[in-house]
Amino acid sequence: MKKIVLGILASCLSVMCFSQKIDKIINAAEVSKIEKKLSADDMAGRKTFSPEIDKAADLIAKEFKKNKLQFLGSSYFQEFSMVKTKLLQSVLILNNDTIAADKYYAYSTAANLNYTSTEGFDIVSIGKNDDFSKTIKSLISAKKNTLVLIDTSHTTRFKRLTGFLSAARFASPVQIVFIVTTVTNPAGFKLEATNETSEQKLKNVVGILPGNSATKKNEYVIFSGHYDHLGIGKPNAEKDSIYNGANDDAAGTTAVMMLSRYFSKMKNNERSIIFVAFTAEEIGGFGSQYFSGQLPPDSVVAMFNIEMIGTESKWGTNSAYITGYEKSDMGKILQRNLIGSKFHFEPDPYPEQNLFYRSDNATLAALGVPAHTISTSKMDNEKFYHTQDDEIETLDMNNMAEIIKAIAISSQSIISGKDTPTRVKKD
Ligand SMILES: [Zn+2]
Repeated sequence: MKKIVLGILASCLSVMCFSQKIDKIINAAEVSKIEKKLSADDMAGRKTFSPEIDKAADLIAKEFKKNKLQFLGSSYFQEFSMVKTKLLQSVLILNNDTIAADKYYAYSTAANLNYTSTEGFDIVSIGKNDDFSKTIKSLISAKKNTLVLIDTSHTTRFKRLTGFLSAARFASPVQIVFIVTTVTNPAGFKLEATNETSEQKLKNVVGILPGNSATKKNEYVIFSGHYDHLGIGKPNAEKDSIYNGANDDAAGTTAVMMLSRYFSKMKNNERSIIFVAFTAEEIGGFGSQYFSGQLPPDSVVAMFNIEMIGTESKWGTNSAYITGYEKSDMGKILQRNLIGSKFHFEPDPYPEQNLFYRSDNATLAALGVPAHTISTSKMDNEKFYHTQDDEIETLDMNNMAEIIKAIAISSQSIISGKDTPTRVKKD
């Protein structure tokens, strides 16, 4: 009899009490508390470089401290520098023609540029039929000075690009000069420019929960989301000018904070878990790029990047998708761990949008890490995406709590060291 009672107790501890415990820690009320603060108007849209984004960083660090996470470096703030550049004056001459100021852009962090020939420059042409975005993507991280001759048919895309590139850049000795032109064979080239440059600090918020296993504690599982958003813009019809970014990505950041609370209470992780809230995703993914250089990628076993989980996915509640599903077997592991539950993960239904390469998982994925983004955002029809109406009232807190719980439960066999996802092919 005693044995039976003990048996019942033991099974309660492992199954029923487990699910009770997770509901106690991760539930709609707790999720809502954090989400509300992160997406509040006083955060002013958490724009990178704004003073208000630091309030969000403080809030995240406070949660990490409460959960007794350890530092990865010397504090929860992983600081790094970016260079902001303001063009004061410039002249560009190409084959004896002076190019109008709105037809070129020198992507540079130098105070002075002075070139009298194309010597030392790689020359790349983007023709009418070339894929503009794809070519640009490979060029902006070029290791050598590059002259990019862009066909005039890409003028609108070029304008959008310059707006994007002018936000900030990591300090670099490499100049990339973009010119909208019909010229494809530059014989004469002269560029003079003066920039006002300033160094500005940014920070990711990072905490670590060391693994219990002596042999597995140097293997890392990462949970991440980005805490920056777009800031304040022009007012809409309702005179709302604040881009609260409740879904994008206060929701993912909330998930990271909730998961740090959950796993620090469970204390059953054999591998070490890193929780990170990235900055500067919206202006170029600089936070995750910096973070990726701070630890050996081979030691990262899996990365769960969480982006926009506040709305229902195209399959309804209790579901989410995984970007780059076919690039590792991580998605299959997560699905297997949810068999018998009401929740299901699906492969990304919007492959044409290249979401795998558009979020903070991309840098580590390029280094071979099974790094995937989990999302519910209907990318063909997400009404409030990048608008002033991305507010907490448009989100489903119950569903969000279910998603966060599903991430916690489905990641368990990876956290415990039982499962190790296959690596992604390096870029
Ligand atoms: Zn986002």
